[in-house]
Amino acid sequence: MSLSATGVEVERTSASMRASIDLATPLILESARTLAQTRRCLAATRRCIALSRRLLNPAWGISGAADIDPHISIRERLERGALSLASKAVAARWGSGQSCVVCERLIAPSEIANGSVGTDGARLWTHLTCLRIWRAETAAFEVRQIARERNVQGELCAFVRRGFANGTIEILPHNRSRLGRGVNGPCSVCRRHVSPNETAYEVVGGVLGRPAYAHPICYRVWWIESLANRKSQTSHPTTW
Ligand SMILES: [Zn+2]
Ligand SMILES: [Zn+2]
Repeated sequence: MSLSATGVEVERTSASMRASIDLATPLILESARTLAQTRRCLAATRRCIALSRRLLNPAWGISGAADIDPHISIRERLERGALSLASKAVAARWGSGQSCVVCERLIAPSEIANGSVGTDGARLWTHLTCLRIWRAETAAFEVRQIARERNVQGELCAFVRRGFANGTIEILPHNRSRLGRGVNGPCSVCRRHVSPNETAYEVVGGVLGRPAYAHPICYRVWWIESLANRKSQTSHPTTW
């Protein structure tokens, strides 16, 4: 085989490798999502098992979150992605035996049950005191999340903050987005072109009425810095 033929072959091989890597990216992201969802399901199932055993006979109770400091339990579950962040949108009603996601005890008819929707769409119930703990731990979790992101993506985070300050980057109104391909236009963060065969996040409903999308890393920093911005604007913990 001549040298030039080898060169063509190498080029072909690297092109096909690039295509495979490109194809693998959404699969990896999708797998990570599915894994997080499975972990949440598993945690919910374990709670149900523990709850059922306590109902049958309190002596059989599995030693779990209900037996330890609820702050520690919630912190650990948030870090693992086994529990959604506490929502601001909560509907209160009288308890009817729902299981509290924080303390894992039943909510009696004499108590207030606070219902909210988790990130996977499941309805979650809590006692009022448990809701306060959940919200406090969610706020603390977000602070840690912001610190971690700035630690890893310091330069991009600073770029986004400057963009917010000079009006070249809009603050994300929420964190609802779609991950996929097919968009064609500039990234809302770095302004580099996003081509239809690239994986990108598209903001649901756009921003200020215009379609908005960003590369995966750009989107994550955009979301984190938008969260940090909202937190700095209010004295109350912000979650969305
Ligand atoms: Zn509770
Ligand atoms: Zn970008």
